[in-house]
Amino acid sequence: MSEPKRLFFALEIPPAIQQQVMQWRAAQFDPQAGRPVAAANLHLTLAFLGEISEQKQQTLMTLAGRIQQPAFTLTLDDAGHWPRSQVVWLGCRKPPRGLLQLANLLRAQAARSGCYQSPQPFHPHVTLLRNAANTVSIPAPGFHWAFPVTEFVLYASQFSQGRTHYQPLARWSLV
Ligand code: ATP
Ligand code: MG
Repeated sequence: MSEPKRLFFALEIPPAIQQQVMQWRAAQFDPQAGRPVAAANLHLTLAFLGEISEQKQQTLMTLAGRIQQPAFTLTLDDAGHWPRSQVVWLGCRKPPRGLLQLANLLRAQAARSGCYQSPQPFHPHVTLLRNAANTVSIPAPGFHWAFPVTEFVLYASQFSQGRTHYQPLARWSLV
């Protein structure tokens, strides 16, 4: 039996959008604003699972494979700062119904499988900066990135040599 893994379901940000967001971030925030998340690590978490055994991972993957949800367009047109978690994020002014349904399903499946799920409502976001300064100023609205979401991904989060790396383990198509 292998070691438990730190798992989460998330959406990928397409590489072309990653690059545009990185350029925008570099122009909008000065280096003291916070620690930028690496381009390849930009993602939108749907359900955090925590430390999961191989057996439970198999159960969660079987359940995920039964999901039949429509594809949707994700529009990143909002940004904010959460002082408690010291995070600057990108999000959606009006999250698409498909996104909320997918996250709710994955969170319900995780809860039923015994993974602790925060009672906090789902706040879809893409973390841009960590350890954000309390004084960080958030860019005015006007930015806008939209892309189709046609799949969701199960990731293992690994921390080594001072870096967090997300390894995609499996992906499922939206219909
Ligand atoms: P770090 O190594 O700095 O913690 P990270 O937060 O990106 O980096 P993880 O802690 O493994 O890496 O988290 C993976 C994803 O799950 C991130 O999107 C994170 O925000 C989210 N996450 C982590 N812990 C929780 C939690 N308790 N509840 C909800 N989401 C969480
Ligand atoms: Mg973390």
